[in-house]
Amino acid sequence: TSSAAEEIISPSVQVSYTQLLIDGNFVDSASGKTFETLDPRTGEVIAHVAEGDAEDINRAVKAARKAFDEGPWPKMTAYERSRIMLRFADLVEKHSEELASLESWDNGKPYQQSLTAEIPMLARLFRYYAGWADKIHGMTVPADGNYHVQTLHEPIGVAGQIIPWNFPLLMFAWKVGPALACGNTIVLKTAEQTPLTAFYVGKLFLEAGLPPGVLNIVSGFGPTAGASLASHMDVDKLAFTGSTDTGKVILGLAANSNLKPVTLELGGKSPLIVFEDADVDKAVELAHFALFFNQGQCCCAGSRTYVHEKVYDEFVEKSKARALKRVVGDPFKKGIEQGPQIDSKQFQKILKYIRSGVESNATLECGGDKIGDKGYFIQPTVFSNVKDDMLIAQDEIFGPVQSILKFRDVDEVIRRANDTRYGLAAGVFTKNLDTANRVSRALKAGTVWVNCFDVFDAAIPFGGYKMSGTGREKGIYSLNNYLQVKAVVTALDNPAW
Ligand code: ADP
Repeated sequence: TSSAAEEIISPSVQVSYTQLLIDGNFVDSASGKTFETLDPRTGEVIAHVAEGDAEDINRAVKAARKAFDEGPWPKMTAYERSRIMLRFADLVEKHSEELASLESWDNGKPYQQSLTAEIPMLARLFRYYAGWADKIHGMTVPADGNYHVQTLHEPIGVAGQIIPWNFPLLMFAWKVGPALACGNTIVLKTAEQTPLTAFYVGKLFLEAGLPPGVLNIVSGFGPTAGASLASHMDVDKLAFTGSTDTGKVILGLAANSNLKPVTLELGGKSPLIVFEDADVDKAVELAHFALFFNQGQCCCAGSRTYVHEKVYDEFVEKSKARALKRVVGDPFKKGIEQGPQIDSKQFQKILKYIRSGVESNATLECGGDKIGDKGYFIQPTVFSNVKDDMLIAQDEIFGPVQSILKFRDVDEVIRRANDTRYGLAAGVFTKNLDTANRVSRALKAGTVWVNCFDVFDAAIPFGGYKMSGTGREKGIYSLNNYLQVKAVVTALDNPAW
């Protein structure tokens, strides 16, 4: 672990857009209020950003409503919509360095990760959904009686979307891509920690030819801007990614207003199971990646590493060695694997969980403390001898804290892996096809990665069982979230033949 945050490198970008994007224009919030977005490397202010509230959500919904009801968006041909999305993807690539820089500055994630993983994925997701735009269609249905029956797949209307701070641009893409492909209009609320890149891509969308009002972006806080979007009577659909607690609040707001359908992508405590026949070195590396990627701030992080007793000691030793080698520091420096946590609240929460691990007598193999006195850097931390009933094995920590547990046989590990309120993802490491198949089918999780982890393709659906959420995003599955199905039943004068 290198000591961090002494040498701060400047991001190569200016903050150009800090106002709300409503009806094709960047505007101040109605109240004139702003809030600070902070640099997680230092806690210093990057920019003052417009603080949207109920009145701004109203303005944005009105613009989205008009763009939907009066056009042009749902009335344009699907091919035209597709071409705008493709042009947008080209612009993302053209501006990839500024975008990556802004993303890492606001979020703290390594610049190399933003540039080589997240920006290409952003473009890829929009190209994927651009490809769907002109391939969405209904069916003719062979009903009893003398009727011609067809289904129309229509856009649902104004989509409200609330996104978190851990992957600001990718969460934007997962939500906006399918909604636009289906012909909806959008009001998106960004997370208060990371408002900057959505405005930048909003500007690129205008440049790509997206009509005013189709995509409105409001920055602001959850209980104000977020809650008024979730409870708005003129929003037809809501998509949310964030914590399970907030997901419950959102579902209540939707139910108590206009019963808008809601998709939720929430927390997780994903098991990663290493069997005795796995390639241990590879499993160590992938388990390390599964937990520490993005500073541990992934809803699907492999945060319960179950290792077979025969390879347990070797696995723990090697995992510790790997974590000690992890390079932590300024995300703009070359070779950095881990930047700061997002903010002081998360930072304190993670340190509290580390203390709880120590107090509950898990073995602290390495790490366990913050790094430096500036910003929110935390040492890569590994606990062994973790037991299922410890807090660190039950709660989502959302930080660089790996918990390694021991198991003996397959039935036992399936039961323990499923003994959680969450069900987002899981990993299975084995060379035995029967074990892989059996465990994949038995695990109650929306994704099972076998001998890999965190493989995110635009075409692969993602979502949770149990309290990890409802609905699926990405792939063909996400389209259903943004479509209404209308059955048109026409009586025929004469028999169909
Ligand atoms: P975290 O605790 O990691 O910040 P949250 O689930 O609270 O996760 O935040 C995810 C998103 O939900 C953010 O955009 C946040 O502003 C928003 N949010 C938080 N509370 C509410 C709420 N009561 N109503 C609507 N949105 C909310």
